[in-house]
Amino acid sequence: MGLTLTLPVHGRRGLDNSILSTHGRCPRLDLFNYHLCRSHRVRNYPIEYGVAYHAFRETLELLYIKWVVEDGQTLDVAMPGLYTLAFAVATKTWEDPPLEHKKGYLDLGRLRKACEESFRTWVDEKKQGFYKIVGTETAFELPLPSGRLFTGRLDQILEWNGRLWIRDFKTVGRKDNWKLRYNPDHQFTGYIWAASQLSGRPIDGVIVDIVYNIKTKGPEFHPTLASRTQDDIDNWIEWVEYEYDNRERCIETGVWPMRTSSCNNYAGCYFRKCCSLGSWRAMEEWLLERTIWSVWDPLEPEREEGLPE
Ligand code: SF4
Repeated sequence: MGLTLTLPVHGRRGLDNSILSTHGRCPRLDLFNYHLCRSHRVRNYPIEYGVAYHAFRETLELLYIKWVVEDGQTLDVAMPGLYTLAFAVATKTWEDPPLEHKKGYLDLGRLRKACEESFRTWVDEKKQGFYKIVGTETAFELPLPSGRLFTGRLDQILEWNGRLWIRDFKTVGRKDNWKLRYNPDHQFTGYIWAASQLSGRPIDGVIVDIVYNIKTKGPEFHPTLASRTQDDIDNWIEWVEYEYDNRERCIETGVWPMRTSSCNNYAGCYFRKCCSLGSWRAMEEWLLERTIWSVWDPLEPEREEGLPE
């Protein structure tokens, strides 16, 4: 029984890691989140914290280029203004979570602490000339061997000891063995492939800047490294093309299988109720009532309203 929904769908020129990974996890979830672009309305405070922290780091680099590199100010003179303006940009639309919310600790105070601490490290990096940033928030749309497009956005491309690396900022709420967590990891292999295509140079790996927060602790900083071999990249290309084929088949046939082994992952899939309704008609009514239209596109992140599951 194929898809008979009448809700609008979103045609895409390319696919990114989030869509392909979601498709691998559960094609039905991909249908809801990325083909029908349905997101639930509640605010996701960990994501808002991450977005604000990213904005702070991105703005710092952009202001540094403008004020120090182009206008010739010294870093010592520019420093107070750099921090103040970057923090103001990052918190422009900030609203603290309600006190009683289980993520209520991710408030402005926690964000300020993370920004202050990372600013101190950033100033040291600049003074020591440790890294040379060659790209910040670089959006890409690149052809795979099949000609289909892989899209995404790189937080930073930088030069370290004359070699190219990617730097990715992560804000997390679960302690992990970070080495195991990111090796293997399709997102980073895809980033390395993309940065190498963009620069025409080999990429040594990803420097992962992890900011860790839980209710009783944080922010803590846990930098870690993830590198990849050519075999890893070849395996990644096989995976991307495989998921792309599967997704195209779903669109063509209207069959988006449910992978029920994923229903209880994380805090439990938001669409569990919808998926137990059975008929497309009932599901469509549920989606209309409980979700909003929200387009996820890494090339235009500002188009997203609400939050994907
Ligand atoms: S509830 Fe389960 S089957 Fe339905 S979209 Fe979520 S993960 Fe997939």
